[in-house]
Amino acid sequence: MTDDLLARHRAVLPSWVTTYYGDDAIELVSGSGRRVTDGSGRTYLDFFGGVLTTMLGHDIPEVREAVERQLATGIVHSSTLYLIRQQVELAEKIARLSGIPDARVFFTNSGTEANEAALLCATNHRRSHQILAIRNSYHGRTFGAMAVTGHRSWSASGLSPLTVSWLPSGDRLRGRMAGLSDAEHVDAAVEDLREVLATTTAGDVAALIAEPIQGVGGFVHGPDGLLGALKKELDNHGILLISDEVQTGWGRTGDHFWGYQAHDVVPDLITFAKGIGNGFALAGVVGRADLLNAVPGTSFSTFGGNPVATAAGNAVLDYVLSHDLQANARRVGTILLDGLRAAAADSPIVAEVRGRGLMIAFELTRPGTTEPDPAATLRVFDECRKRGLLVGKGGLYGNVIRMGPPLTLTEEEAREGLDILVAAIREIDKPERA
Ligand code: PLP
Repeated sequence: MTDDLLARHRAVLPSWVTTYYGDDAIELVSGSGRRVTDGSGRTYLDFFGGVLTTMLGHDIPEVREAVERQLATGIVHSSTLYLIRQQVELAEKIARLSGIPDARVFFTNSGTEANEAALLCATNHRRSHQILAIRNSYHGRTFGAMAVTGHRSWSASGLSPLTVSWLPSGDRLRGRMAGLSDAEHVDAAVEDLREVLATTTAGDVAALIAEPIQGVGGFVHGPDGLLGALKKELDNHGILLISDEVQTGWGRTGDHFWGYQAHDVVPDLITFAKGIGNGFALAGVVGRADLLNAVPGTSFSTFGGNPVATAAGNAVLDYVLSHDLQANARRVGTILLDGLRAAAADSPIVAEVRGRGLMIAFELTRPGTTEPDPAATLRVFDECRKRGLLVGKGGLYGNVIRMGPPLTLTEEEAREGLDILVAAIREIDKPERA
């Protein structure tokens, strides 16, 4: 680092606000497209996009101009006590795209708040504070969102406003779903749901909250159709489905616009955040009118859906649709997935490559076992950076390399990143091969 910014960060921010790269933390001082430059002038290809958030890439003229036009009006904020044209327009688009008939949209500042709002709607409608959640999930950092987070590292408190029962994750390497075929997996999950409902709940559960592909959990996901099969059983009890699309929304998964669309189901509530603002604080919940309207008091978010954030959101969504970035995610993601699978086939340390579209991860284990290898993961992660590629890390055991590049990623950039990833894996698995 060129100055003492890391020391100052550590001196003034809580210890749990951690940075990547330890004592070698970097500050991103400029960016363009899929490239970012750090304080020492080093440029990287960005395959993590600030945790799947700079969905179009950096410094996109259409977004910058939309925000500048809003700033030029002099109205940065008005509150929802006054009509906000940008907000209504964006809500209309999201409602139309949601797949939920006659949907309503409520805007918040973060994915956490979006999930809180969804949980509020579901629990009020059902007059129950019982929730089903999935192990290895992440839904946010407030008490309700943390209560449905099934990931030890992110569960900072056991205090909970909800009573939560847990369903298994889609982990195929270990745990009760390991080694099952897709059909066996779905059957086992439905059977488990029936058992959980019969044994650990009072029956009148409000909702199941699920990520179609688990983000923080290392892009673990069940087979296509799983959420639909679970929902059939939930429908027998009037239990709602909340799809947390904070990471999986807006076409990132390539095959679908929303992650839930791989599952032959339409959720009752969908939460969104991250990519829709391309970095501006914008999130929300879209869902059935009767559920959104079930909140019995006035509820209000001072900043949620403010004119600047929603100006950005409209520009981002228009860009995604007019450039068909979903198709790009599928095309370019296939290059990465195929290339990584080929590399994994003869790497003793890569146990699984998973994900879809431009949501891609690989899991590192000790050779010949399913024992997680976080140390090797850290070395691959650092090696990527050394070679000019920023990626993410995650998974329950810290042994997953995660990537969510901007959906504008080009084929050339995908190949450039793939070459670095393969070289990094080879560098670290060298002793195992020798
Ligand atoms: N839900 C999912 C699936 C997430 O990945 C995240 C953040 O990573 C959240 C919710 C919380 O979003 P935020 O950090 O914007 O509050």
